[in-house]
Amino acid sequence: MKYCDLHTHTTASDGSDSPGEVVRSAAESGLAAVAITDHDTVAGLPEALDTGESLGIEVLPGMELSVKIAHGTLHILGYLFDPDSSTLKEVLKRVQSARARRNPLILERLEKLGCPISYKELEEISRGGQIGRPHIARAMLNRGYVRSIGEAFARYLKKGAPAYVPKSILGPEEAIRTIHDAGGLAVLAHPVSLEFGTPEHLEELLVAWIDQGLDGIECYYSMHDREMVDLCLGLCRKYELVSTGGSDYHGKAKPQIHLGTGTGGLRVPYSCVEALKERKARQRD
Ligand code: AMP
Ligand code: ZN
Ligand code: FE
Ligand code: FE
Repeated sequence: MKYCDLHTHTTASDGSDSPGEVVRSAAESGLAAVAITDHDTVAGLPEALDTGESLGIEVLPGMELSVKIAHGTLHILGYLFDPDSSTLKEVLKRVQSARARRNPLILERLEKLGCPISYKELEEISRGGQIGRPHIARAMLNRGYVRSIGEAFARYLKKGAPAYVPKSILGPEEAIRTIHDAGGLAVLAHPVSLEFGTPEHLEELLVAWIDQGLDGIECYYSMHDREMVDLCLGLCRKYELVSTGGSDYHGKAKPQIHLGTGTGGLRVPYSCVEALKERKARQRD
C-alpha cells in the first residue's frame, strides 16, 4: 500500500517547518505523495516542488482557504491548481491584506486586556511567513500571559473570545470558483470542525456547496473518528465526490500531530491522489 498526506502547513503560514523540511520529512517517512496546504497562501509551493523533485517524492500544489459562512468559518482545500494563475493571485492578495489588517486589531484588543505584544515579536515567531493567531498565541505564551497555546485560544483568541477578530472575506462560492479558475479542485476540509450536529445537517450544508462546484471531502483526518470517516466516505459515494485526507501537520506548532499518521492511527491511501487527478482530467474534457 502507498500512503500520502494531503494537508500540511509550513513556515509560509503557521507551521514551524520550512516547505523543504516538510517535503523531506514526508520522503523520509516513506509517503508516496505530500500536499502543502498553507492558509491563504501559495508562497511555500516553489520550494516544496523543488525539494520534491530533488528527493523523488510527489508534491501536490495545495492551499487552505478560509471561507465565511453564516454561522462562522469554513476551510476549503484547493489542489492541483496553477499557482501562477492571475485570478488566484489577485484573490489571495485581497485575502492576505484582510489578514494583515486583522492582526493589529487583535493586538489592540490584547493590549486593552492587559497582554501587550509587539508586532516585531510576531515577525520573529512567524519567520517571515504570513502571521496568524497561532503566532499570537505563541507570543502570549513566551510572555507568560498563558500557560499553553490552547489556553491562549480558549481565553482570548477563539471565536467569541474577547480578542477575536473575524478575517474571512471569501464566501464558499467565490472560493470554489477561484480554485476552479486556476484549474484546481475544491475539497471541504475537516468536516468535524463544522460542528454540524446531525449527519442530515452536514448533508444539507454539503448539497449547497456541491451545487457551487465542490469536488471532494477530507474524509481521513487526525481528528476524525471511525464514525466520522465512514460518514464522509458515504457522502462521497452518494454524491460522486473525491475523498481525500491529511494530518494537518503544523510541526512544533502542533506537536501532537505527526506527518502522515496524525495522532497515530491516520493512514491516507494514495488512491486519493489518483482520484483527484482523474477528476481534474474529467473536468478538463
Ligand atoms: P487564523 O488563520 O489566524 O485564523 O488561525 C487559524 C489557525 O489557528 C489554524 O491553524 C488552527 O489550527 C489554529 N487554531 C484554531 N483554534 C485553535 C485552538 N483552540 N488551539 C490551537 N490552535 C487553534
Ligand atoms: Zn494552521
Ligand atoms: Fe483547517
Ligand atoms: Fe490546516
